[in-house]
Amino acid sequence: MGLITWIIILGGMSFMLWYGFNLLVRRPGIDASGDGPGPVAACHLCRRTFPIRYMVSRDKMAGFINYFCGDCIEGLYNDYIGAQRDGTISPIEKLREGISRN
Ligand SMILES: [Zn+2]
Repeated sequence: MGLITWIIILGGMSFMLWYGFNLLVRRPGIDASGDGPGPVAACHLCRRTFPIRYMVSRDKMAGFINYFCGDCIEGLYNDYIGAQRDGTISPIEKLREGISRN
């Protein structure tokens, strides 16, 4: 293969690495106009995009932040309470009590 082919292959690989890294460390977008909804982010669960002032955030390791919308949080809460009521899962308090006794 010629030198041009290698340059194209290396350039393509470099672009893929750069693009993949940017996808991983993607931060909420900033609305440059200043009169819009403000920074937005995709909910980590449903992937819908909302202004971050309507979302709850949690820091993960290595500086990544997850954002969660109210619909998903409410759904998780209802699933959690419902599963406890059904006896499918135990309340987390029982685990905490067990840990504190040891
Ligand atoms: Zn969501």
